[in-house]
Amino acid sequence: MEEIYKTIKHFGKVKIDEPLQKHTTFKIGGNAKIFITVEKVDAVIELLQYLDEKGVAYMIFGGGSNMLVADEGFDGVVVKISDKTHTVVGNHITSAAGMTTVGLARVTIDEGLTGFEWGVGVPGSIGGAVRGNAGATGGEMKDIVESVEVYRNGEVSTIKKEDIAFQYRDTIFKHNSDVILRVTITLEKGENATGLKQAMEYLAYRNSTQPQGHASTGCIFKNHEVKDDRHDALKDLGVPEEFLKNKKIPAGWLVEKVGLKGKEIGGAKVSERHGNFIVNTGNARAEDVEKLIDEIKQKVYDTYSISLEEEIQRV
Ligand SMILES: Cc1cc2nc3c(=O)[nH]c(=O)nc-3n(C[C@H](O)[C@H](O)[C@H](O)COP(=O)(O)OP(=O)(O)OC[C@H]3O[C@@H](n4cnc5c(N)ncnc54)[C@H](O)[C@@H]3O)c2cc1C
Repeated sequence: MEEIYKTIKHFGKVKIDEPLQKHTTFKIGGNAKIFITVEKVDAVIELLQYLDEKGVAYMIFGGGSNMLVADEGFDGVVVKISDKTHTVVGNHITSAAGMTTVGLARVTIDEGLTGFEWGVGVPGSIGGAVRGNAGATGGEMKDIVESVEVYRNGEVSTIKKEDIAFQYRDTIFKHNSDVILRVTITLEKGENATGLKQAMEYLAYRNSTQPQGHASTGCIFKNHEVKDDRHDALKDLGVPEEFLKNKKIPAGWLVEKVGLKGKEIGGAKVSERHGNFIVNTGNARAEDVEKLIDEIKQKVYDTYSISLEEEIQRV
């Protein structure tokens, strides 16, 4: 690691044995052997080429807002991409992966473009948002992404929207080791006053429905997509027709129905306000959260024969 440390410090700001809890919105996670913050995408490419050549394990960090990092930490190099540069050409914007989703949404509003107002409420980086097809209040990254530049097998490639396999909180990037470097989005012309008003309404709605004042990592589970052959059985179990019609059952509703809202294990607690949020009440460990997740999954399965899928990334 000594040699690695000496070489990679040319690519960015390096910290040794860095507590990852300082870099996740959940404020949970053990130490990374090496943590490097890289300011420029070009330096990220060179760094990854070097790490691949040396066979060193690495992990990418955006905003750390969709992760449950193990208490044992990560025995390799954590690469935080912090390049926030972006260019606007007409209604197309290309942004480095380290730009915050909130910041990019704000840029689109200022530019009088419409279609990404919902992004003002989503924490984390735009790279992380594309990877997980982040979305809110009806919008999703898939609606606006035109193409993505990635680091793949030592080279830089451009991936077009149709090859990203966008699905509900899913893309090819969740199933391969591509590192997202830059993202190009395309929007419609709009009015910035209208966009700002809409963004403020989205924020007010979020603040009234999501827990405030405690660390979290957003929604833990994906909402459950209902298969046609389960419609009648779920109806008999009391699932409202409204959810069955939309073919989606909110995970938070399921957690509430199995009586686990407010349940606490160690420093982790299922939010009283939103059943799909687990909050860190102070000194939660990843182990506490894992136990809560397992208990929720088991109870929901026992009651509804539904296997909840995690939206968060365990690392
Ligand atoms: C309070 C709160 C509210 C939230 N609300 C929403 C919401 O409304 N909608 C929603 O969709 N999400 C929501 N989230 C979850 C989270 O904000 C999103 O999933 C976000 O897009 C994650 O981005 P990130 O940069 O923080 O990813 P990280 O947590 O840093 O990373 C998540 C995963 O993506 C990988 N990754 C990150 N950057 C890259 C990259 N450049 N290339 C390749 N892989 C990468 C990481 O290795 C990791 O596996 C919320 C979270 C919080 C804390």
